[in-house]
Amino acid sequence: MSRQDYDERRRFDLTPEPRFDDLDDGRAAAAASGGRRRFVAQLHRATARHVDLRLEHRGTLLSWAVPKGPTLAPGARRLAVRTEDHPLAYAWFEGVIPSGYGAGDVIVWDDGWWQPVDEDGRAVETDTADSADLLVDAMLADGRLRFVVHGRKLAGRFTLVRTRDDQWLLLHGKDDAAVPGWEPDSPMRSVLSGRSNDEVRGGAPARWAAPTDDELTALDELGAAGPWQIGDRTLELTKLDKVLVPGRDDTPPTTKRDLIRHYATMAPALAPYLAGRPVNLNRFPDGSGHGGFWQRSVPQGAPDWIRRWTDPVRHRGRYHTHVVFDGAASLAWAASIACVEIHPWTSLAVAPDEPTWVYFDIDPGPDTTWDEVLVLARLYRTALEHLGLEGGAKVTGGSGIHVWVPVEPRLTFEQTRTFAGTVSRTVGGVVPDLVSWKWHRSDRRGRARLDDTQNARHKTLVAPFSVRPSPGAPVAVPIRWDELDDEHLASDGWTVHTVGARLAEVGDPLAPLTTRQQPLPDM
Ligand code: MN
Repeated sequence: MSRQDYDERRRFDLTPEPRFDDLDDGRAAAAASGGRRRFVAQLHRATARHVDLRLEHRGTLLSWAVPKGPTLAPGARRLAVRTEDHPLAYAWFEGVIPSGYGAGDVIVWDDGWWQPVDEDGRAVETDTADSADLLVDAMLADGRLRFVVHGRKLAGRFTLVRTRDDQWLLLHGKDDAAVPGWEPDSPMRSVLSGRSNDEVRGGAPARWAAPTDDELTALDELGAAGPWQIGDRTLELTKLDKVLVPGRDDTPPTTKRDLIRHYATMAPALAPYLAGRPVNLNRFPDGSGHGGFWQRSVPQGAPDWIRRWTDPVRHRGRYHTHVVFDGAASLAWAASIACVEIHPWTSLAVAPDEPTWVYFDIDPGPDTTWDEVLVLARLYRTALEHLGLEGGAKVTGGSGIHVWVPVEPRLTFEQTRTFAGTVSRTVGGVVPDLVSWKWHRSDRRGRARLDDTQNARHKTLVAPFSVRPSPGAPVAVPIRWDELDDEHLASDGWTVHTVGARLAEVGDPLAPLTTRQQPLPDM
């Protein structure tokens, strides 16, 4: 049931499933994250439909396939077949396994954390303490694993009892979490992306629900502070009337309440860009006029239900545990801590070294006019047409334009960066007077830079529908290619106050591309 079994059963050139990380690094990262043992339940429609129950232990995921699925019904016995240990990254995997072992589709139906339960019935505080590891080892050897699950759907005390060989029985205890006659949601949906297995198979983008009108009214009617119920979460909100972004011209200032409303209501539009991705948050607790800071690790005091991913690779000398958004409540929480700007990674938590997007950042210099930015953006459009690649553009809410191209899985950042560099030098070669290749802004003689170095593991780009920390609270907005020829187009023309109407009218032309998997052409 080892790592070798996992590797031998899979063809990694065919399956999108993750490989094992370097184990030592993964364990050190898990320890750095606070040491909670991850629990995950994945609905896997293979030859036979089943739920895979996985429990983190010693840097891997112990795994059982449960044909009838786990249940909260007390006393029900469910067959659970022990399968090979899976890499920790598997906890983030949903997708289609095309052929071979496990061929079918997978969603992350539930996740959370778990604790082993000792002989006296006490749940052991889960850290990476050796005693907890040894207790789990002993229970596995005895064929009787007692544990408590803290999930979104599954909760309470379970026991796994081995009957013979790899066959175990899974039982739920008679505790407060037990529900006689319990049935799962139908259809069963992902806690990460909101999708059913059919939607994952069909390549549908992630879907998150917007807050209800009643919830938004309650937010408006809340005074300066108080509890706000959104979905099944309650946020303790403070300083709701504090201005976080100043106004401009006839655009009013943006308060914390406005920012919370923006991010909560934009949840359905943000889902395709944020689901399953680590993010970096740009926070301005004293307002955007007073400078902000980049939050990479989940801040102290964040609610337990904020979903977290620990990067198994150190960045600038330390491990970071990033927020991974999963819907309107988590976005509203970020706004409540004065996160003005959201930057997702270009890779997913399940495969942080594999970008799903190539992007081109048209970064204007002080002497670059808006018309020249448009000239450059049109050249990228032409280049992509010539290459037979689909891509899309967004105005950044600042002064530039970003061009996004979705790519197939299993490319490296070196490949996407090389591709981006080749295309950008071709574009720049057409209009050499507009472009500088110098790194430092002061060396560019006022000209634009076409930045391809951003296609790298720890680099991020502002999300579509993210607010920017400049007066008027402009918003990054995806556009249709033909809008590059619209004389009214501006990079910062839409704000938190107007983007809702824009979305209702035009929709998001980039959203359908978010699940496209394009190979990069040979160049
Ligand atoms: Mn399975």
